[in-house]
Amino acid sequence: MINDIILLKQGEIVLKGLNRRSFEQKLMSNIKRRLDAIGKFKAYCMQSTVYIEPVDETSDMDAAFEAMTKVFGLASVNRAAGCEKDPKKIAELAIEYLKDDMLAAKSFKAEAKRSDKSFPMTSIELAQFVGGELAEAYPNCEVDVHDPELTVHIEVRDLAAYVHAAPTPGAGGMPVGANGVAVTLLSGGIDSPVSTYMIAKRGVRLIPVHFFSFPYTSEQAKQKVIELARLLTVYCGRMTIEVVPFTHIQEEIRAKCDEDYFTLIMRRFMMRIAQKIADANGAKAIVTGENLGQVASQTMEAMASTQAVTDLPVLQPLIGMDKEEIVRLARKIGTFETSILPYEDCCTVFTPKHPKTKPKLRDVEQIESALDIDALVEEAYAGIERIKVGD
Ligand code: ATP
Ligand code: MG
Repeated sequence: MINDIILLKQGEIVLKGLNRRSFEQKLMSNIKRRLDAIGKFKAYCMQSTVYIEPVDETSDMDAAFEAMTKVFGLASVNRAAGCEKDPKKIAELAIEYLKDDMLAAKSFKAEAKRSDKSFPMTSIELAQFVGGELAEAYPNCEVDVHDPELTVHIEVRDLAAYVHAAPTPGAGGMPVGANGVAVTLLSGGIDSPVSTYMIAKRGVRLIPVHFFSFPYTSEQAKQKVIELARLLTVYCGRMTIEVVPFTHIQEEIRAKCDEDYFTLIMRRFMMRIAQKIADANGAKAIVTGENLGQVASQTMEAMASTQAVTDLPVLQPLIGMDKEEIVRLARKIGTFETSILPYEDCCTVFTPKHPKTKPKLRDVEQIESALDIDALVEEAYAGIERIKVGD
């Protein structure tokens, strides 16, 4: 009977020296929470490798494997089989478990590692032994130690020995939560789900904030953003979306400010409210999907005026990317198809015909002074709706 197991190799986190323990704890709790949503599993960590074992026949190892490819902080994800630490048993297991891989490949080599130094063979001897048995069982597949199509891995660990073929690359990055908390401005567009993903990848837990302008933008537009956040939870973990009522602010700007400055002033309100949400949640940065030169509000001058109202760092991971690269990433993480559903975003509702691309901060402040900024921010903040997504 094959003892099916998933082996996860930690990524960058092993380089973190003193912080390693807390990084590892974050990683383990993220992994366990993700697994809990799927079924019953045993998960434990030894020597920078995480082991996931099924508990009973309801433990869906395929679903667990798929989920683990999306957990940040992992360099690789392996499906492996385990057996007793006996060279003959290891060879038998390799012959049975790697059948499909061995039949498909034209050449292979075996590599062995042992953390259990009391094992009676050296790594090289074990690799040669298992490699020899495999070569005999599968004459279609030649040994090639220099450029093999398939590499068979054998690992002798504390509790058992494991065999596996090529690992799947992990999601990389650092465990979510290991590098603190940020708010992320999440519109219904293509860009902001990608920027959210990228900052989560650096180990940051995110609080999505969405500015909602009912009835100018529909209930469907809100549902779309909730769906985008839900799609992101496979990477970001569970999240609480803060939906900010934005209609009154937009109407006030339209009524009292020069039309050309509408978007700039609106974006300054977004930043002020985002900062307030950040402060209330211990978040230390604001993430946006801005991209240099993409639209009028994404010139350097416009971004300076937007960022002037907050003292938090504004993280813009897409700033230097081409649209094509952003789209490719959106497809990869599975948000693209939802992002292109045709609902209005609050930014498109009152878009000026001739937006200022090189605003002077002095002018923006002067035009905006027609508004009771503090009262508008307070009112919007008080009306926030909080929606939980994810496991
Ligand atoms: P996206 O595709 O993310 O909507 P965009 O290219 O359409 O981006 P803008 O509309 O100028 O760009 O918005 C820039 C950034 O501001 C967005 O990436 C997002 O982070 C934030 N943003 C815009 N509209 C909203 C909104 N309604 N709610 C929350 N954040 C928003
Ligand atoms: Mg947008």
